[in-house]
Amino acid sequence: MYDINDASYAAYRRRRVQRLKKIIVVTILLAILIPLICSVVFISLYVHSRKEYRELNTRYEELLSTMESLRDDIAYIEEEQDVYSVSEVTESAREYSGEVYQADTPVDADGSGTNVRRVYLTFDDGPSIYTGEILDVLAEYGVHATFFVTGKDDEASQEAYKRIVDEGHTLGMHSYSHRYSQIYASKEAFAEDLDKLQEYLYDVTGVWSRYYRFPGGSSNTASKVDMKVLIDYLTDRDIMYFDWNIVSGDASGYVLSADTIYNNCISKLEDVNEAIILMHDASGKHTTVEALPRVIEAIQGMDNTELLPIDDDTYPIQHRKAGS
Ligand SMILES: [Zn+2]
Repeated sequence: MYDINDASYAAYRRRRVQRLKKIIVVTILLAILIPLICSVVFISLYVHSRKEYRELNTRYEELLSTMESLRDDIAYIEEEQDVYSVSEVTESAREYSGEVYQADTPVDADGSGTNVRRVYLTFDDGPSIYTGEILDVLAEYGVHATFFVTGKDDEASQEAYKRIVDEGHTLGMHSYSHRYSQIYASKEAFAEDLDKLQEYLYDVTGVWSRYYRFPGGSSNTASKVDMKVLIDYLTDRDIMYFDWNIVSGDASGYVLSADTIYNNCISKLEDVNEAIILMHDASGKHTTVEALPRVIEAIQGMDNTELLPIDDDTYPIQHRKAGS
């Protein structure tokens, strides 16, 4: 046993006090550190989950808008197929004269008697990842076409609009949003969408486009507004609209082979003097690009036939005329 005066007892007490001090310090440190670490872990988990929540929310919103545009696409495909069955050239375009369109205007109507067949390649829905390729093919063959574009504000699309203009093609409009549910909801909505695209294209290219193609064509039945009202609106704004009398068929839901697209474009050309061919400049439609060189070669090989971009002199093939 220690004597309280014993030096070794004093040393024992010192050690004990020291140990107690250590325990107290460690306890205090742990009391501070554990909640701190817990807080840091908790906060980082919270921040992380917030981030995940935001990402999920963004993806949810993206999916919603994808769903909405898919719904529009379905309406679009259904509508355009309706239009195709109306506008399809069967035996001879002349049989349709006065009914659906008048593609059989005598080619020498201007009195020139040159009997020239005029063919217009038109590309809807661009710019797309294939616009550059389409432009390359057109340049290779020295051909000018017409692009009925929608509104896209990314840099690549802006370059595409500029290239279309710089290389001498006609820049036509095909609505900013291409959403049936929006543009055909009311005359005001249609006008707003049109103004937005016309001004946007002017800002990007310096061209004030005066040519329009209605999504689904002028005889679409998706519009809640009487198409006549929209046609009159375009007329008031000095904008010409063009439908088509030959379809490449590349708008259908499944991918057509380049051979089929080629045949669709060429097989009925002999029957018409004025031909506006509907094609698409859209992702997922690469077979259109593949068919294009052969389509152009075939047209260039036809007698008395010109390939032209749409301009004020183009005979307006329209499924629905103003006033009808
Ligand atoms: Zn379209």
